[in-house]
Amino acid sequence: MDDGVYSKSREELLEVGKKYRIPQDSLEDFLEPNKILEISIPLKIGEKTITFKGFRSQHNNNLGPYKGGLRFHPNVNKDEVMALSLWMSLKTAIVGVPFGGGKGGIAVDPKALTEKQLENLSREYVRRIHEVIGPHKDVPAPDVNTNPKIIDWMMDEYIKLSKKSGGKQQKLHHLYSTFTGKSKYGLEGRTEATGFGGVVVLKELAKKLKLDPKKQTVAIMGFGNVGYYFAKFASEAGFNVIAVSDSKGGIIKKGDKAYTPLDIPLVLDCKLEKGSLAGCYCAGGVCDTRSGQLISNEELLKLPVDILVPAALEDVINENNMQNIKAKIIVEMANGPVSPKAYHYLTEKGVIIAPDILANSGGVAGSFIEWEQNLKNKKYKKEAVLKRLEKMMQDAFENVWNISKKNKTNLKEASYLLALNKILKTPQKSK
Ligand code: NAD
Repeated sequence: MDDGVYSKSREELLEVGKKYRIPQDSLEDFLEPNKILEISIPLKIGEKTITFKGFRSQHNNNLGPYKGGLRFHPNVNKDEVMALSLWMSLKTAIVGVPFGGGKGGIAVDPKALTEKQLENLSREYVRRIHEVIGPHKDVPAPDVNTNPKIIDWMMDEYIKLSKKSGGKQQKLHHLYSTFTGKSKYGLEGRTEATGFGGVVVLKELAKKLKLDPKKQTVAIMGFGNVGYYFAKFASEAGFNVIAVSDSKGGIIKKGDKAYTPLDIPLVLDCKLEKGSLAGCYCAGGVCDTRSGQLISNEELLKLPVDILVPAALEDVINENNMQNIKAKIIVEMANGPVSPKAYHYLTEKGVIIAPDILANSGGVAGSFIEWEQNLKNKKYKKEAVLKRLEKMMQDAFENVWNISKKNKTNLKEASYLLALNKILKTPQKSK
């Protein structure tokens, strides 16, 4: 039996469909990606040519152009991009932006490449998917191990190809809107958007549960784009971020009795200087009280914190470790970090889980604002962007919360109901 992440997710949605009597035919039709592109990408490394596998899954475009990130990671595979693209279709519907869902990536360890090789690989990927992307077709963005610099190379390549293939009349600012998460012609606030949006969800949840942020401890797994900004905005909102980690492990600070909050900007400075958080153990101000400790990622997940935030990869909380989780709230900032079985087990135990398709939808909401900014040939200010994002996230949370109360169900099921209701109500576009 295929027990990949896509099949698990599909099963879960079919269960919800059965429970709420959603017509099975239309649900099954929606679940299947419209198109999946599998490509080979040759790259010259020294004297040799190595071929990498690349993907783009265009899941559903009922609500608008396909939208979703590009991931560079050795584990990227067809099943993973299919699942991630399905989640994008749900996410765009939940946060109320006129996009469908897509996702792509390359099975590669980008850290093993030189910058020039990475650029060549990124440009070659675009040359092979050029025909199927565009401002009103499919709009890629960064994801794990891809960043604005990579997206800039891709946009540059896309513009060259579009001009060559007769797109000279197309206005340049329209071409810019083919990618979001750019540094050139990008959106002020897009880099922060996902972490910022997650903290808006956490604050709204804390209000509903009448929790005082100052009394809540938070541990965050993953200290990349999402994890860092989540940590920063959560600290600024008064939450006590006491542990953070990256792929090599994490750091935590303990005072005489209790864990003490980390100085997040200082931790980032240290990570940038040392290359990993593990190198920050007792470095400068990070543990100037000599109370800093190194912890593994598994230890971080088990910490007796109030709020746990997995912000790295999927399936990190699963059947093998779900019994060890002590947090009362989990905010899924990565995509699919809690397996369906673990989600069920923890929810039964009373843990409240803000699902990924709601919690990290600030990223795609930010992407929508960037896309709109480019299409309208405008330049928005960061303050206005974050204000708009805050409102979008508050509305999305409120809608999901109300559905969960009305149906006496958890936030994930409520998010599914909200998304499926919108997508299936909209006439199916041709596949
Ligand atoms: P990133 O590459 O900037 O950061 C990933 C972080 O995870 C790094 O700190 C890395 O060291 C850490 N990490 C990698 N493997 C790990 C492991 N085995 N254990 C612990 N930490 C590990 O990526 P990102 O953009 O921050 O994305 C993180 C997650 O958020 C992904 O699941 C991504 O799909 C999701 N997401 C990202 C965005 C976005 O706008 N960037 C939007 C929505 C969802």
